[in-house]
Amino acid sequence: STLADGLARGAERVSGSLSETFFEPVIRIGVTGLSRAGKTVFITSLVANLLERGRMPGLVAASEGRITAAFLQPQPDDTVPRFDFESHLAALTAPVPHWPESTRAISELRLSLRVRPAGLLAGLTGPRTVHIDIVDYPGEWLLDLALMDKTYEGWSAATLATMERRGIAAPYLAQAGATDGAAAWDEPQIRPLADAFTAYLHAARQKGLSGIAPGRFILPGELAGSPALTFAPIAKPDRPGRRSLWREMERRFDAYKSQVVAPFFRDHFARIDRQIVLVDALEAIHAGPPAVADLQDTMTEILSAFRPGRNAFLSRLLLGRRVEKILFAATKADHLHHTQHARLTAFMEALTAEARARADFQGAETASIALASLRATVEETREQDGEAFHCVRGTLLEPGGTRGREAAFHPGDLPDSPASLIAAARQGHEAWLDQDYRVMKFAPAPLSLKPGMGPPHIRLDRAAQFLIGDRL
Ligand code: GDP
Repeated sequence: STLADGLARGAERVSGSLSETFFEPVIRIGVTGLSRAGKTVFITSLVANLLERGRMPGLVAASEGRITAAFLQPQPDDTVPRFDFESHLAALTAPVPHWPESTRAISELRLSLRVRPAGLLAGLTGPRTVHIDIVDYPGEWLLDLALMDKTYEGWSAATLATMERRGIAAPYLAQAGATDGAAAWDEPQIRPLADAFTAYLHAARQKGLSGIAPGRFILPGELAGSPALTFAPIAKPDRPGRRSLWREMERRFDAYKSQVVAPFFRDHFARIDRQIVLVDALEAIHAGPPAVADLQDTMTEILSAFRPGRNAFLSRLLLGRRVEKILFAATKADHLHHTQHARLTAFMEALTAEARARADFQGAETASIALASLRATVEETREQDGEAFHCVRGTLLEPGGTRGREAAFHPGDLPDSPASLIAAARQGHEAWLDQDYRVMKFAPAPLSLKPGMGPPHIRLDRAAQFLIGDRL
């Protein structure tokens, strides 16, 4: 009877998963972007707004009143950390609100919608349940894809060559130069090298420079301090012995690839149906042309993950499976008056154009958008000497995270031809040609949310329509 029970349970499980695929579709949405791009705030506000739906007119199923219920459910993957939606929302809705803790590693959340079918089917069938699995992961981890087709020797040589051209790499290069890869391997020697290399990667990331792999050195999650994350590029000695420093570095590099990078792509990345890539474009524009050129390089690197044809490892993994839709979103658009939003969208288009031109992402549908997940400002038009200035007003966020005074400011007009300005950046212009563009950091505004209303946003509903609208 135990056997019969077991079989019955097995059959139940099979039919359970069948009914899920046939009658309860699952859409897996990947949310990525470099750290501080706005992933955590995006997911928190998206979920809160889908739960309430009072501010989602751009999501057609919501505006037609066909979403009859929305609720959070246990996620399908038991070993992936849950996205801490409640704590993040509590931070944003506290009497004195603050920004939530940013993404440090992968997490997941399942939101389920009860949806009445549209059109002719409406009278024939009852509401369906559509599961939306949101997977949040650092964009830095996608940069590791470039390592998969490399050997330790090739990666070391290329990385050291890039570092030679960067002043911030000097301390590491000095340390690595004094290291003999043929010497017997010794942990107390490897550790400071790995630490110095990690410090370089952080500095490069801070400056918005491209080529910052391995991604886990910057966001290690629970792997911090493990041998797979304790290696660094060094020059190859003539005859590295079996117990040499070089051989151990090589072994760890291979372990990083096979035990850290490959499982992430296999278990998580390969299962994503639709993807949103968040970009803090305003920050780069503020920093000037060199930062924009670097952002474009980094975007091209990140987006190569969505062109699996160019990577043998990824092609093997995906076996023809592909992401159906990719949305490129410039975040924090509430820093700009809405008259500037079209330019921000055009900027995103220009930023990703190069990556898109090289391949059409294997047929995935792509779009660009400018959005604010959580609107922290209000618009204001001021007159000065007969001229109108479009401003945004909000509470400034002081360094250290304290709330400062309220201020209205005019950030400057965005360049009206992003493509030509990106070209100017590539030709070595240090500053924008005619104006300086300023950004300020704002604290989240206190919210008094009425039932049925999610947090205020800009175009979050349009993003949702692109990502899930066709399946509702
Ligand atoms: P993550 O590292 O990608 O998870 O980034 P977060 O979601 O934590 O966002 C990083 C920071 O960007 C936040 O702490 C806010 O200061 C800012 N931010 C994110 N989204 C918005 C937005 O919609 N409006 C404004 N004004 N700031 C935002």
